[in-house]
Amino acid sequence: MQILRKTKMEALKLLGSMKREEMLERMEEKSLVGRGGAGFPTAKKWRMALEQEENIYLVVNADEGEPGTFKDKFILENNLDTFIEGVMMASKILDVEKTYIYLRGEYEYLRDDIEEKIKELNNKTPRNFDINMVRGAGAYVCGEETSILQSIMGHRGNSMKKPPYPTQKGLWGKPTVVNNVETITCVPQLLLYDDWNPNLRLFSLSGNVSNPGLFEAPLGVKVSTLIDLARPKNKLKAMSLGNFGGIMPIEKDMKITPELISDENCFHGTYSLIWIDETNNIVDICKNISEFYTYESCGKCTPCREGSKEILDLLGKICNGKGTKKDIEELEKTASHVNQTSLCGLGKTVGKHVLTGLEHFKNDFIEKVEQ
Ligand code: SF4
Repeated sequence: MQILRKTKMEALKLLGSMKREEMLERMEEKSLVGRGGAGFPTAKKWRMALEQEENIYLVVNADEGEPGTFKDKFILENNLDTFIEGVMMASKILDVEKTYIYLRGEYEYLRDDIEEKIKELNNKTPRNFDINMVRGAGAYVCGEETSILQSIMGHRGNSMKKPPYPTQKGLWGKPTVVNNVETITCVPQLLLYDDWNPNLRLFSLSGNVSNPGLFEAPLGVKVSTLIDLARPKNKLKAMSLGNFGGIMPIEKDMKITPELISDENCFHGTYSLIWIDETNNIVDICKNISEFYTYESCGKCTPCREGSKEILDLLGKICNGKGTKKDIEELEKTASHVNQTSLCGLGKTVGKHVLTGLEHFKNDFIEKVEQ
């Protein structure tokens, strides 16, 4: 696996021979985009912070709360050296004041290893990198960059309106770069290895399969290849892209690309593919996802706080065989309204599974109300 290549402190030596601009250009040539879901070009983000000409903070998002995603955990467990080397390189290229690693609460068991590795690698460099750990408290919304910053500053992890973007005004009003674990790990690898392939992605496969796990494959990989790896017990009919990317139908010949997923009105996010087989009715899956959203909505804005509950109530009614066709219409209207009027990324996808479920699997809904 490319993500497991160990740079063994060799990439850090490049800091002595390459200028910042050369490194940013290399990141652009290699088309490094954020691997936390949004896919924003990494060098562009770094340039935006550098343009502010103020002290910069770096935040590494190790919160990884998207259901079905476990790629950053895998990197922290299996290539910690290269990750920390990446943190050090990003800190130096951005000339940051301080760096924070925001670690998911459930990954607390990794904290000692990470702290020891920081100490060990700091002892091998002439510069002492100021890297601090912050433990997340388990809120899904803290995967969103403005919420993370609020949490680090000691506030409730609520999302903030953008602009200003964190690269303009982030931690304590200073420009702040937020990147996730995989993105940061790619930095030393792409700078050191000419054959680094920007097209490879980590696919987290789970759901109705007997061989769930993490697989590295190029974008454009066929669904049939991933199915062979995941080994489902029954015929698959759909995949949920995490919880927030929507539910899309699958065909064995499909090639997984961001464009194909977007053509189905879904979003690739972190390539968390939760397989759903034919024994499932999509309404039950939607209800399960809505339970998650209702619990995780931070409650700051009305459409998301109230709308997520309303969606769950309607799905519950339909699942219990007490729904009507009018409830399905109401469900669609509410989901669309919540998505359009909520403040942050979480609220904007509260209805995504319902809308894509209705678009692609309307018969599953009709079946439930005609029982
Ligand atoms: S959209 Fe939801 S999660 Fe986001 S700020 Fe509003 S209530 Fe909180």
